[in-house]
Amino acid sequence: MSSICERFDTLGADGRPTRLGIMGGTFDPIHIGHLACAEQAREAFSLDAVIFIPAGNPVFKKDRAVTPAAHRLAMCQLAVASNPAFDVSAVEIERGGDTYTVDTLRQIRTHYPENVELYFITGADAVYHILTWHESAAIADLARLIAVTRPGYTLSEERRAFIADQGRFSIDYLEVTALAISSSDLRARVAQAKSIRYLTMQRVLDYIREQGLYIDSEGGAQ
Ligand code: NAP
Repeated sequence: MSSICERFDTLGADGRPTRLGIMGGTFDPIHIGHLACAEQAREAFSLDAVIFIPAGNPVFKKDRAVTPAAHRLAMCQLAVASNPAFDVSAVEIERGGDTYTVDTLRQIRTHYPENVELYFITGADAVYHILTWHESAAIADLARLIAVTRPGYTLSEERRAFIADQGRFSIDYLEVTALAISSSDLRARVAQAKSIRYLTMQRVLDYIREQGLYIDSEGGAQ
């Protein structure tokens, strides 16, 4: 069977109930907001592990250039290396073609035994559009969703009720510590030669500098 990631490939093999968080995103670049979200979701839902999965070719981002997947993957790996509860998977990048969450969840579901319950973690603003995602009904059957809200990105009660009615989703909303950080803000700051120190892990910052990422971008990656 193909590998999902190094640290957690045998998760659930002991037959005990196990909760796996799947942190999907473009991660262009990964920042401390993402890491804090994953950590707080891990704690709030007693997740045994969280796998970060950078999107290969995000379908809703075709109107702008996305940094090559190898860089986004490398930055994720640098960011999570020191946390034994986190790992990164290249499954979406290796799969090629348009990235659909349903394909990823099917691949992960096939890999792990039934006692491993899947929790897909993503931003509440991404969840806002979930009914338009490819095979959204199948997503609802494969995983529970954790929608992370942050200042300025909360879903109204009406929208939550609408999504719940239309899609059979099991969605938990998790308000994380106020971290008004976004990848687009980091890209813009680098392009303007402003500091991003403390907004992402130092190793990620060093990588961005070494590789010369984002210097030609203004809110959009080079
Ligand atoms: P996005 O539009 O870049 O992100 C939406 C918002 O949520 C952004 O503000 C983003 O902040 C934040 N965010 C992204 N991932 C997050 C996470 N894991 N935890 C907390 N906040 C997060 O959306 P995206 O990153 O491209 O996509 C999010 C996930 O949804 C990916 O796994 C993607 O593949 C999936 N998706 C699937 C489909 C589909 O199957 N049809 C369609 C759309 C999205 P930052 O900008 O700071 O990251």
